[in-house]
Amino acid sequence: MKILVLNSGSSSIKFQLFILGGEQTSSIASGFIEKIAENSSFQMIKYYLDEKEIKKEYKKKIETHKEGLLVVSEMLKSCSLLDDFTLLDGIGHRVVHGGELFSAATLIDDNSLESLKSISHLAPLHNPANITGIEVARDLAPNVPQIAIFDTSFHQSLPKRAYMYALPKEWYENHHVRRYGFHGTSHFFVAKESAKILGKEFYEINLITLHLGNGASGAAIKNGESIDTSMGLTPLEGFVMGSRCGDIDPAILPFMAKKLGCDVSEIENYLNKKSGLLGICGENDLREIIKRAEDGDKDASLALDIFCYRIKKYIGAYTVALGRVDAIVFTGGIGENSPLVRSKTCEGLEESIGAILDEERNRDGNFVEIAKKDSKIEILVVKTNEELEIAIQSSEIIKKVNKEFL
Ligand code: AMP
Repeated sequence: MKILVLNSGSSSIKFQLFILGGEQTSSIASGFIEKIAENSSFQMIKYYLDEKEIKKEYKKKIETHKEGLLVVSEMLKSCSLLDDFTLLDGIGHRVVHGGELFSAATLIDDNSLESLKSISHLAPLHNPANITGIEVARDLAPNVPQIAIFDTSFHQSLPKRAYMYALPKEWYENHHVRRYGFHGTSHFFVAKESAKILGKEFYEINLITLHLGNGASGAAIKNGESIDTSMGLTPLEGFVMGSRCGDIDPAILPFMAKKLGCDVSEIENYLNKKSGLLGICGENDLREIIKRAEDGDKDASLALDIFCYRIKKYIGAYTVALGRVDAIVFTGGIGENSPLVRSKTCEGLEESIGAILDEERNRDGNFVEIAKKDSKIEILVVKTNEELEIAIQSSEIIKKVNKEFL
């Protein structure tokens, strides 16, 4: 089965082409189009030929998503990877917000597309671009099944006590204000991988998964279901992130609006783009922050401290919520690659919850299981692969559709 995975942003398209068949799954090409409708568009495709990685870059000016997808199609054709989109078995689209309407991967038809449009206001920066990607792909390949996979759907299992905010009930009833959670595709993927690593059935596993990248979130997973997660109505709540504040006293918003004499959208911009690690130390790339901290920069050290301390507090809360924890799982650019963050986050967990990090295994970089033998809780480093998860979920829907037609 040939499946193209698309992640359409407001001015970008990321793509990855997969072949899935039997036990075998491989990514045969990936790439992106950037700066659509800007002065200098940029495109890249990466693929393998005779086990050698080949990377090609282009600077064709692209005005619309439709042109962008046509360029993706041209690039795949010129590299002899795919002659035409109509030859695909399916196209899997990443969609950020599924609201309460979409609790699983969904085949796109006119009805589901209308439903999807009806909840665009929940993620105004992301969903409209995701929908444009779907519409353009349907246009270019009308007979190819299109599947939407949502960042929120894995967290639709949250119980009401975890997803309701203590706000006027009408805000939920009339405006759908509740916790949705994000990074669901990643939390689900690493949770399944963790079950395999631990030799347990997925429906029996209890995990705390920590997706730590530029955006960061945690999930408490009980018997294979998400029962709590740190992001909320939007991806702003929870952990400290690259430039997002995470949990704060909401009264800071009106307080600072008055002090600065600015409106809510300006404050929103501060909270999303000028806060987090960037707000504390002027830098959002964790590699740079670590370098600066090692050189004695106090702001960078503080940013690192706050980042890890906040995650540790969530580990405590989720341990209590879960009762039994089989493993704490680190993933995402930071979770997978920073022994320092893993070490600082796990500091002191031996006393509180009996999780003991094996520093040698943690620093080595080649181990997946990094807890000491006598640790009560396993600690894992699991590489996430959201695109692969989207391809797998798409293939399952396609198989169902094909069966119905037989
Ligand atoms: P992501 O959003 O998952 O791509 O992750 C991006 C974040 O991962 C950035 O803050 C990077 O600085 C961080 N990162 C990537 N590699 C490393 C590394 N080797 N050590 C520390 N942080 C890293």
